[in-house]
Amino acid sequence: MSSTRVLVLNSGSSSVKYQLLDMRDSSRLAAGLVERIGEETSRLKHTPHGGEAREWTGSVPDHEAALKAVATELAKDGLGLDSPELAAIGHRVVHGGLRFTEPTVVDDAVLAEIERLVPVAPLHNPANLTGIRTAQALRPDLPQVAVFDTAFHTTMPESAARYAIDVETADAHRVRRYGFHGTSHAYVSRATAKLLGRAPEDVNVIVLHLGNGASASAVRGGRCVDTSMGLTPLEGLVMGTRSGDMDPAVIFHLMRVGGMSADEIDTLLNNRSGLIGLCGDNDMREIRRRIDEGDERARLAFDIYIHRLKKYIGAYYAVLGRVDAVAFTAGVGENSAPVREAAVAGLEQLGLAVDDGLNAVRGDEPRLISPADARVAVAVVPTDEEMEIATQTYALVGKDG
Ligand code: ADP
Repeated sequence: MSSTRVLVLNSGSSSVKYQLLDMRDSSRLAAGLVERIGEETSRLKHTPHGGEAREWTGSVPDHEAALKAVATELAKDGLGLDSPELAAIGHRVVHGGLRFTEPTVVDDAVLAEIERLVPVAPLHNPANLTGIRTAQALRPDLPQVAVFDTAFHTTMPESAARYAIDVETADAHRVRRYGFHGTSHAYVSRATAKLLGRAPEDVNVIVLHLGNGASASAVRGGRCVDTSMGLTPLEGLVMGTRSGDMDPAVIFHLMRVGGMSADEIDTLLNNRSGLIGLCGDNDMREIRRRIDEGDERARLAFDIYIHRLKKYIGAYYAVLGRVDAVAFTAGVGENSAPVREAAVAGLEQLGLAVDDGLNAVRGDEPRLISPADARVAVAVVPTDEEMEIATQTYALVGKDG
């Protein structure tokens, strides 16, 4: 029997998101989420393709129990993880440092290297490691593939990847710009070229991944040349709960004058800043609703968000020299017409504009929203990180078993 299925796992500290895909025809067989692992009441939501979602609450003490619960749900649909049709398990791994430029079959040396990167990704890499080890225990015979969020950005030139600080200090502590959301930037930049009917090598694209976390990238001929996140996902755009760019001296000021500890400032900048810090809401739908009611704080938060976004569009226009397309993706990018309109407003001199009618259309397919005669295409391109992880995983291990 040929093994064409790939299970994609995205393991967080207290959650596991999963999808089972069949790479014969790139179809989705099932998808789901286990949340609040280790808490009193955990929740599992499982949706078989074309079927009714099943929800379940109970105790899921750890990742091993979570994966077993997922396996049980899949087995009910005849998709058990013991099936010979399963070719591999693909894992999202947040930080691959400089070493991992490609998806990689996991062995002990790979696990050790992911572990070595924990200091630069203290929240994410430990959870990703737990996910991999748990999956290994469940199916020791199966290839486990790590797909790194940083990999797409390893093509950045040193001029973009280095901070202008003392080189020895930076190198001693591996301080440089790595970038994140790489799987999404890779997928969306290629899908944008396809939408334009051109080869990825021939097009320059600015990708705006605007979810709760948000990042921009400049992609020249299919290779990333700059991205807005840095050593950690904190740098760059204004996000749902993260500040993005600011003067690093704000941190010393808060320590010396505000009496805050490094951990308190870490929490402030990662969890209590960005849109939620500015106006108390991080959901763009709620912010737009408040703006419609005349709420000034929501308006200011929106304006700060857009101002930063516009600065990055301008910066990456200059980095690329020639831009063929600007692509909006992720929760906000795919769904918020007001954000897309405001982000390119006034950039007509750069050849950028949106057509109000096209911008208002909703849909799941990649689509152009710029006027027909526009010099630069503006596009909405839904991201699909799970499909990209499955595709990369299968390309590495796919064979008839
Ligand atoms: P994550 O970074 O968690 O993967 P997503 O890409 O799913 O995030 O984006 C989540 C965000 O997308 C929400 O916080 C919300 O701001 C925004 N969003 C989702 N749906 C809509 C919508 N219909 N209109 C505007 N914004 C939306």
